[in-house]
Amino acid sequence: MTQSENSGPDTTGIDPVQLNKKSTFTFECHKRVKCFTRCCRGINIVLTPYDIIRLKNRMQISSNEFLTIYTKPELLEKTDLPVVTLKLLDDEQESCPFVRDDGCLVYTDRPSSCRYYPLGVASLSHKEGADDGFYFFVHEPHCLGFDEKKQWTVEKWRQDQGVDIHDDINAAWTDLIVHKRSFPKNVMLTEEAKKMFFMASYNIDKFKDFVFKSTFLERYDIDSATIEAIEQDEIELLRFGMRWIKFLLFKEGEFKLKQ
Ligand code: SF4
Ligand code: SF4
Repeated sequence: MTQSENSGPDTTGIDPVQLNKKSTFTFECHKRVKCFTRCCRGINIVLTPYDIIRLKNRMQISSNEFLTIYTKPELLEKTDLPVVTLKLLDDEQESCPFVRDDGCLVYTDRPSSCRYYPLGVASLSHKEGADDGFYFFVHEPHCLGFDEKKQWTVEKWRQDQGVDIHDDINAAWTDLIVHKRSFPKNVMLTEEAKKMFFMASYNIDKFKDFVFKSTFLERYDIDSATIEAIEQDEIELLRFGMRWIKFLLFKEGEFKLKQ
């Protein structure tokens, strides 16, 4: 798809067929389809940590401002973990704040689920990098893209939509969610642990202040190369944050407290 050939998610019409990377389908989305931008209204998009970084940088605002203006907090089903969804406009169609008549205003930085649509993805394993998830169609009656003739494999669609880099950067976050979901329901997190999960996942600017302006570096034994990397690069900081949360929630990983 091109910048003006917009697509977006609406996850209510899930087709139960399980797909893998080699599965094929016929689909195309472009400005001439009658349903153009229909999928960007009345939707529920859970944002990932990398979605927030891309979008707040695109808009040149802080992660805190982005979260306040554009998101709504939710607890993710079966995990009790706090996530955010895109806050929709208060118009008749409950439009995405970024949709315009000629497509998506933030197309090159659009969220992961907008990139996947009309596919959805499910992760089954909590081992980071494990490839035992599957894909499915979010097959909604209003989406006329399935009537078009262009052939895809799931793998080609992923490449075309640029989801690989999103999935790679979000892998540790997805892993935490799947890991928590595998626990019995009565295993609850403390409010403080949920707050830390939320900050490290979504509020990257606040997390940076937390690491560099609190006693964090006095408490944890972090090597100087890592400190330099996380100070300069927010993707490194996000990956670091996910390793810390894994240690905090599950006591797993290589975080060491100073003696
Ligand atoms: S971010 Fe863009 S592609 Fe996604 S729902 Fe909004 S307008 Fe549509
Ligand atoms: S074809 Fe489907 S993905 Fe494209 S605009 Fe229409 S509803 Fe959205």
